[in-house]
Amino acid sequence: MNALELVGLTKVHGTGVNTFRALDNVSLTVGPGELVAVMGPSGSGKTTLLTIAGGLEAPTEGQVIVRGHDLASMTRDQRAALRRSSVGYIFQEFNLLSALTAVENVAMPLELDGCSSATARRLSMESLARVGLSDRANHFPDDLSGGERQRIAIARALVSRGQDGQHRLLLADEPTGSLDTVNGDAVMEVLRSACDEGASGVMVTHDARLASWSDRIVFLRDGVVVDEAVPDGPESLLVGDHQ
Ligand code: ADP
Ligand code: MG
Repeated sequence: MNALELVGLTKVHGTGVNTFRALDNVSLTVGPGELVAVMGPSGSGKTTLLTIAGGLEAPTEGQVIVRGHDLASMTRDQRAALRRSSVGYIFQEFNLLSALTAVENVAMPLELDGCSSATARRLSMESLARVGLSDRANHFPDDLSGGERQRIAIARALVSRGQDGQHRLLLADEPTGSLDTVNGDAVMEVLRSACDEGASGVMVTHDARLASWSDRIVFLRDGVVVDEAVPDGPESLLVGDHQ
């Protein structure tokens, strides 16, 4: 089953004379295990696309289907439940709570969902292990590098009660935007391996090198998909770097 199907999405922001067409008839399908990069200049509609894909905002026209569920046919509560069970968000600025340890941050969505503390902790430790940060579980965000913080945010996006984290839809808005190359690569490696294990992702990035970790690159301009490309893969770039 496809993780995400966007069909003919149009989004008009504002009302009256102050309207702005942020997306214009955009269609995109993301299959299981697929990582799609979205590139485009500032203001081209990338964040709007992710917000609508995650059901946080409704499109003006078009369909959003998340794991076979048409969001428009669901109640608000059903959409919220689907988001909790199937969708993980990753933002540029990590959005971790500084008063909580790494494992407590990862456990937060589970606790909000009524999971027992013991179960939430166990699932969160598993999720931290997936991003290679078991040894940072009891650290506070301020004591971690930017890359580690973002990997914790990914662990949180992957965690789920049904232990089906490997099937989540990850929506990442410039997840490496505030990181240096080494940390950016570490974050990309985690996103890539999550998708190799069955998650699916849509990732906005300005960096063509990081986009090369994806299976497909979609180029947006003024709310329209103007081009698509299949990258050669990061290995080819690494070889190039050493020549
Ligand atoms: P990107 O993430 O590619 O920089 P956005 O999706 O944030 O682009 O925005 C696309 C366009 O829509 C921009 O011109 C922005 O100003 C406009 N826009 C975004 N959100 C709103 C809103 N809530 N109201 C009015 N205009 C908006
Ligand atoms: Mg944006």
